[in-house]
Amino acid sequence: MAYQRPLELCTACRQIFAEAGCGGLCRSCAPVQMQQRRQREAPELGAACIRLFQALARRAGDGELEALEQLAFLQDSLQMQLGAAVAGYRDGHGYSWADIGRVLGVTRQAAHKRFGRATTAPAHPGRGL
Ligand SMILES: [Zn+2]
Repeated sequence: MAYQRPLELCTACRQIFAEAGCGGLCRSCAPVQMQQRRQREAPELGAACIRLFQALARRAGDGELEALEQLAFLQDSLQMQLGAAVAGYRDGHGYSWADIGRVLGVTRQAAHKRFGRATTAPAHPGRGL
């Protein structure tokens, strides 16, 4: 007789399921729970980054040149990561400039001006169209 997986009770929706998603959740609830967990984690990750930046800033304030160098590098890196994230929202997920501006607390025009593609702006402002 072939082995049959025992039925389980989903810990979220309390329905019986045969095919597991993960962690005691059915295949419907698992992705929703994962998304909710990721939304909770984002502010925690941001807070952890701020604590690290503050530690570097304290060291820079104490005269540690390597810490100052790292802060400058992180500033550049953060700008690049932010640009890549916005491009991902625009290209991969179809968010509008208004959506992105709303999240960043600026107008859609300001969001576009800051993160719009370089190809949409003249390479040499003031030197033609
Ligand atoms: Zn479920």
